[in-house]
Amino acid sequence: MKLYSTNNKDLRVSLEEAVMNSLPADKGLYMPTSIPALPKAFFRELENLTFQEIAFAVAKNVMKDALPTSVLEDIISEAISFPAPVEMITDRIGSLELFHGPSMAFKDFGARFMSQLMSYFNRDKDDMLTILVATSGDTGGAVAAGFYDTPGIEVVILYPSGKVSDLQEKQLTTLGKNITACEIQGTFDDCQAMVKQAFLDPDLRDSYSLSSANSINIARLIPQSFYYFEAYKQVKGLGKEVVFSVPSGNFGNITAGLMAKHMGLPVNRFIAATNVNKVVPEYLDLGIYTPRPSIPTISNAMDVGNPSNFVRILDLYNNDIQSIREDMVGYYYADEETRETMKSVYSNHGYCCDPHGAIGYRALEEYFNSNPEDDLFGIFLETAHPAKFLSTVEATLNESITIPEQLADLADKTKEATLFQNDYSQFQQFLLDRK
Ligand SMILES: *Cc1c(COP(=O)(O)O)cnc(C)c1O
Repeated sequence: MKLYSTNNKDLRVSLEEAVMNSLPADKGLYMPTSIPALPKAFFRELENLTFQEIAFAVAKNVMKDALPTSVLEDIISEAISFPAPVEMITDRIGSLELFHGPSMAFKDFGARFMSQLMSYFNRDKDDMLTILVATSGDTGGAVAAGFYDTPGIEVVILYPSGKVSDLQEKQLTTLGKNITACEIQGTFDDCQAMVKQAFLDPDLRDSYSLSSANSINIARLIPQSFYYFEAYKQVKGLGKEVVFSVPSGNFGNITAGLMAKHMGLPVNRFIAATNVNKVVPEYLDLGIYTPRPSIPTISNAMDVGNPSNFVRILDLYNNDIQSIREDMVGYYYADEETRETMKSVYSNHGYCCDPHGAIGYRALEEYFNSNPEDDLFGIFLETAHPAKFLSTVEATLNESITIPEQLADLADKTKEATLFQNDYSQFQQFLLDRK
């Protein structure tokens, strides 16, 4: 497997380089040079394959011989070790539940796959690899759980003080061992700026071998395409065309879906469902892309004003907006509409959506209303367990919800984090002192 940069199609790097460097020097994003279609036989046989077998076939199709087959098999069996069930909500809408992993958000798929890949590539290195990651909430928990106790790798997580939910904070700050939490008195953007500065800091580079685990890493994207095939397998018997509605922020999840379509997955349409941070739905409508500062909402994992994976979508479609529109439509909703949908799905169908999934559900309904003649089945991605957004969900439904054991156990654990002012030199000194 070889990869190029979205800013330089002549560049060729190995998977190892793309995974370990995360970003090409020209600030583009890595893309595979080829995303071949899977053989017809694969789709015919899909019902007979397990999720892990599907994941292996899809990974092998993109990654080719980048890894020995037995290594790839081991990585898949470690990383893809929990299910992705489609729960039927109505006779034409299902919820693809991506929250059955350790941190209860879909980011577990990417983080676990990436940690396995990085430890493999790091296997013969003597130096400790340090992964720096800034989080607005869910990424940190998934990365912490994914890399916990991984030999030769440590993780330093930066999160904005007071701006992540209580449960999210516990997920970052209670593991210990090779996971270090830094609480920054600033915003998510400040955390991200510190991570960027650390990467460019020659003093740190002398004593640390640094890498990044944010969502632009190709190792997080590849495994996110697996569950689109797994979902299709579960509804294939209905004999309808499938629409996927993807609650989107940085657009990594939906990009992986579009890649699945390029591999031959029969999908009628993808819906880019966002909150009022709507730069992509607006682009699909008007043909103009206008990034802007993000606006806070109750679906805060999608509060992104300049989605980093958007350039990958442009690349996948050779910048041709007409072909992008054939595969993808966009809808966006205000918090009030999100709450309305959470309430109505709960009272009409007894299903509790988290604020992100609710946006996906609502976009499907709107799509069906504007395309009534088509015989479609809609799947929205339920990207996190509703209990991760406990106060919003309980206040909206006016009811207390059951907290799964994984999250409930966190309540008794003690937070350990080092508090920093929004000042790079303090953070730098902390890193230098601990070497
Ligand atoms: C990260 C996240 C999203 C957005 O996913 P992208 O790949 O960034 O578009 C949506 N919902 C939840 C719960 C998330 O954690």
